[in-house]
Amino acid sequence: MTVKTRFAPSPTGFLHVGGARTALYSWLHARANKGEFVLRIEDTDLERSTQEAVDAIMEGMAWLDLNWDEGPYYQTKRFDRYNEIIDQMLKAGTAYKCYCSKERLEAVREEQAAKGERQKYDGCCRGAAPRADDVPHVVRFLNPQGGSVVFDDQVRGRIEISNEELDDLIIRRTDGSPTYNFCVVVDDWDMGITHVIRGEDHINNTPRQINILKALGAPIPEYGHVSMILGDDGAKLSKRHGAVSVMQYRDDGYLPEALLNYLVRLGWSHGDQEIFTREEMVEFFNVHDINKAASAFNSDKLLWLNQHYIKSLDPEYVAKHLEWHMKDQGIDTSNGPKLAEVVTALSERAKTLKELAASSRYFYEDFEEFDAEQAKKHLRGVALEPLKLVQQKLAALTEWTREAIHQAIEDTATELEIGMGKVGMPLRVAVTGAGQSPGLDITLELIGRARSEQRISKAVDFVADRINS
Ligand code: GLU
Repeated sequence: MTVKTRFAPSPTGFLHVGGARTALYSWLHARANKGEFVLRIEDTDLERSTQEAVDAIMEGMAWLDLNWDEGPYYQTKRFDRYNEIIDQMLKAGTAYKCYCSKERLEAVREEQAAKGERQKYDGCCRGAAPRADDVPHVVRFLNPQGGSVVFDDQVRGRIEISNEELDDLIIRRTDGSPTYNFCVVVDDWDMGITHVIRGEDHINNTPRQINILKALGAPIPEYGHVSMILGDDGAKLSKRHGAVSVMQYRDDGYLPEALLNYLVRLGWSHGDQEIFTREEMVEFFNVHDINKAASAFNSDKLLWLNQHYIKSLDPEYVAKHLEWHMKDQGIDTSNGPKLAEVVTALSERAKTLKELAASSRYFYEDFEEFDAEQAKKHLRGVALEPLKLVQQKLAALTEWTREAIHQAIEDTATELEIGMGKVGMPLRVAVTGAGQSPGLDITLELIGRARSEQRISKAVDFVADRINS
């Protein structure tokens, strides 16, 4: 049997971290079992579903590189199929037309409530004589009476629900449209889904869906319901806890590897391992190891993982993601060092790509002014001599390499009998405009000769002006 899983988002908004984690678990279960992964867009709620949301969900999936083998299917394109099955069920007697008016249903519910009974359809139209086709009606599923539905949830273990608790579910509305739970059943069947991994908010739908599948003679998939993600205050994760949209994490400077690694561990574990490559996730993932308990989102840990991946992934790869941020921050990278080299130089210092982009601006663009505070501290009268001497020594270099640059700085300090910092700090402010940068040798090398020399000379003038004023 080929394992087949699906991710079935309702396109009513962006891809949020909870959805992404469910998608990841379904994707991993398929990949871990050499199976297939289906993307299905559950857009039956016409009022709330939008094309922008479909695009946003797919953009999020693509960014995380959760590739699907089949789909995207759209439920709205399958209405004929759902109706075909409903008609077959009407013939087979596993569904029936219900002519009850709203008022009657309301009265039944009130009476049940008054008696303290469970409120549900009383089965009035079960076995009712069919009326003319144009008499308004809904179609209800004939839920089995007596007995119970039992399923072995892959995450939560055995779950049993008595049929007494289940309604004769409406599967087609008066306007002829099939209802959500029914569409899901037909889809899971038609698409050959073997494992349904989804949020625990759907756990109540499962026994109903199993009953319909049984009535259709369809195989019953395995189900696994994943717990909620909570914010740090124990409430359900929402916008007020910070970013919840996957693409917001891209915008904030996270690598997809970091978010995936974070999400896989949020509710799943493999021993005490924290860092997982994509290959390791696929190798070790087992749906039975998903945690039943809700998990709390921890932004610090995500940030830590992000820093880990910025430091440890191939700089060429990180550079591809950094490129997006450079553009986003309006930095033209066509004139300056290769981005991968900037990544190598700065990766120890940045927690996010957004930060990394911002702090690499001086490699590509000249700055108007030195940072006022740093200039006040380091571009003072005493800096004139070391700046001028290092300027001379740099000008004399035959090659612009970090080794040669380093030697020039060291020689300056030795000759003037001052500490390296007395040369280094003025020089740093001179070439970067700011007080922080990677090692000066590599910084100057990457900034390039012409730009470095021009900036040092600007700093020399700045100090000279200051002495004279
Ligand atoms: N469309 C549902 C949702 O977005 C998922 C249904 C399912 O996975 O069965 O919550």
